[in-house]
Formats: sequence, structure tokens, C-alpha cells
Amino acid sequence: AQLQERLQASTDEVEKLSRNIEQIREQATTDLLTGIKNRRYLVNVFSEEARRVAENGGDLCLIMADIDHFKRINDTYGHLMGDKVLKTTAEVLKDSVKGRDHVVRYGGEEFVILLPDTPLTGALILADKICGYFKNLNWKRKDTSQFIGPVHLSFGVARYRENETLEKLIQRADRALYHSKHTGRCRVTCETDLDTGDRITA
Ligand code: GH3
Ligand code: MG
Ligand code: MG
Repeated sequence: AQLQERLQASTDEVEKLSRNIEQIREQATTDLLTGIKNRRYLVNVFSEEARRVAENGGDLCLIMADIDHFKRINDTYGHLMGDKVLKTTAEVLKDSVKGRDHVVRYGGEEFVILLPDTPLTGALILADKICGYFKNLNWKRKDTSQFIGPVHLSFGVARYRENETLEKLIQRADRALYHSKHTGRCRVTCETDLDTGDRITA
């Protein structure tokens, strides 16, 4: 009976430890402010998704989104309001995707959406949809009901090329995003637009 008791105690201890490990893993991959996944999570999930492409083929796309003139929001309404805008933006982005799509806060006011089994056309449709949603959204302060006007986002979209690193993929999405910023903001640019100069949408 004593042995049984000790065995049970060890089992309980192991279970507790693995729960702790799981909790720490969860914390390490979660963004503290917005509660969505963070950059570390993106690194992990990208290697899984890239392996899946190597094994099964299919498309993997990445959308990079950056809030337009976010500094102005901080400067005008204060850092705390800036934080609230970041939280709501993260929520809207999370609600815009489904299934195995991953939304992460990449840094400051930048977000990445990783889309498994999604061709470039599908990724562009989603980016356009989100861009349009933010374009038509009028933000109101909860405390004073005062409108703070629109919060726009600019987007860059790129498709994963087999065997490339996450850095390379992000670099191309970021170049497309940079193009969106420099052609008026609140728009979507696809990596292929940069070669042809064709498909720029508002
Ligand atoms: P652009 O349209 O070119 O993207 O301009 P921007 O003002 O959005 O970009 P910029 O890089 O000049 O400024 C980003 C700002 O985001 C500066 C930084 O203080 C703010 N920021 C970054 N992280 C946080 C955060 O966690 N909370 C708040 N409130 N602000 C943040
Ligand atoms: Mg910005
Ligand atoms: Mg930025």
C-alpha cells in the first residue's frame, strides 16, 4: 500500500510538471498585450507548414499587415489608447480567418497571417477583405463614446517557395507591404505586383 501511495504521488507530480511545461510553452508563444500568438509561434508553425508542403505539396501564403500612421494614434490619444487599438485590431484579424490559418503579432503594430493550403489568389481575396473592413470601420472610444476616426492597415502578400527560409518569405511580403505604404497606404500589394506593376488594389 505504501509503494502504491508513493507511485501515485510520483504520477501526480509528473502530471503537474507536464501541465506546467504546457503552460510555459503557451505563455512563450502568446503575445502579452493582445493575447494572440507571437513571433516565436510563427517560427514554430512555419517549420511545420513548410514540412507539410515538402511532403504533400500545396500552397502556403503569408500576409504582412501594418497599421497606418499608428504613431499618430499614440501621439493624439496616448499610449494606452494605442494599446487598445492594437488589441481590437488583433481581435478583428483573428475573427477574419478560419480553420488552420494563423494570426500572429509580429512586432509593434505589425501582424502576420500564415495561410496553409491557400493559393496567392485566395490570400489576396482575404487581404482585400480585411483591408476593406478596416477602411469602413469607424472607431469609437468605449469610455467617452467619442469617435476616433478610421484606423487603416496596409498589406503585403507573398507565396512560400519550397526550401526557402521564413526570413526570405517575410522579406518578400515586407517589400510588397512597403510598396503599399509608398503608394498611398490602406491597400494590398502582392509580391507579383512588384514585378509587373499591375495588380494594385485599393
Ligand atoms: P506607417 O504608416 O508608415 O506604418 O507609420 P506608423 O506611424 O504606423 O509607423 P512607425 O513605425 O513610425 O510607428 C510605429 C509606432 O508604434 C511607434 C511605436 O511607439 C508604436 N508601438 C509599437 N509597439 C507598441 C505597443 O505595444 N503599444 C503602443 N501603444 N504603441 C506601440
Ligand atoms: Mg505602421
Ligand atoms: Mg511598422
